[in-house]
Amino acid sequence: MFPDNGFLVVYIYGVVFILGIVFGSFINCLSWRMANHESVRSGRSHCTSCGHILAAKDLVPIFSYLFLKGRCRYCGIKIHPRYMLTELVLGLAFVAVVAVFGISWQALSYLVLSCLLLGLSLVDLAIYEIPDSFIIWGIVNWLVFLPLQAGVIGPSELASPKALVPLEYLMCRATDGLLGGFIIAGSLLVLSIIFDKLSGKESLGGGDIKLFFMTGLYMGLFESLFCLILSCVMGILFSVLVKKNRIPFGPCISVAVFITLLIGTSVTTWYLSLF
Ligand SMILES: [Zn+2]
Repeated sequence: MFPDNGFLVVYIYGVVFILGIVFGSFINCLSWRMANHESVRSGRSHCTSCGHILAAKDLVPIFSYLFLKGRCRYCGIKIHPRYMLTELVLGLAFVAVVAVFGISWQALSYLVLSCLLLGLSLVDLAIYEIPDSFIIWGIVNWLVFLPLQAGVIGPSELASPKALVPLEYLMCRATDGLLGGFIIAGSLLVLSIIFDKLSGKESLGGGDIKLFFMTGLYMGLFESLFCLILSCVMGILFSVLVKKNRIPFGPCISVAVFITLLIGTSVTTWYLSLF
């Protein structure tokens, strides 16, 4: 799947990293607008303090921030480093996905999912809400890439009459995904309703449950269970780090999903081999 040529490999990772930070910059802007109820389609990027329209040279991911020493070129206000950090995070996430899955349909579907997870995490951090649009795009992305990953639409399968094997694989993946989504999200929904009734306060947001459903499609049943445990660990770590009782759970789930997609198969295979 990956070329042997060392130079080519470095080049591919470089391109993937740059793609990641460019998408990171776009998602920063998109999620800021969503959190501040601005139109995501129209209007040019502007300084959130002085309102000055930003020029192309102000919008180069990471480099503009470093060049301007973290300040707005026009009014001099300090820009929070989190914008640069999120760009960096997505760049590294892209590299990690390609390192594990090579250049494949699966990798491409996870790259899109990484963008969605970053976007919904940023909005959730800002306004404690996960917009449905991220969930819907996540489901659409899963549906689009499912047959591609299974190789049903691959050129060799179209040419060969024995397309049945990938079709079985497709059904397997689809069933496992649906089981993961429905069982995890369904049991969380029931648990949270019971807990809310007993305690009289909201435990898990509706957005979090929808997020578990959407990501469960990608992970399947066993990996979703692993991810659920990991999400709780992330949630505890996060609330200890920020010293708050109420934290947005979306970013914790997103980090857990990302880790699960990268290493989940190895972990669940190892765990099941114990029995
Ligand atoms: Zn400014």
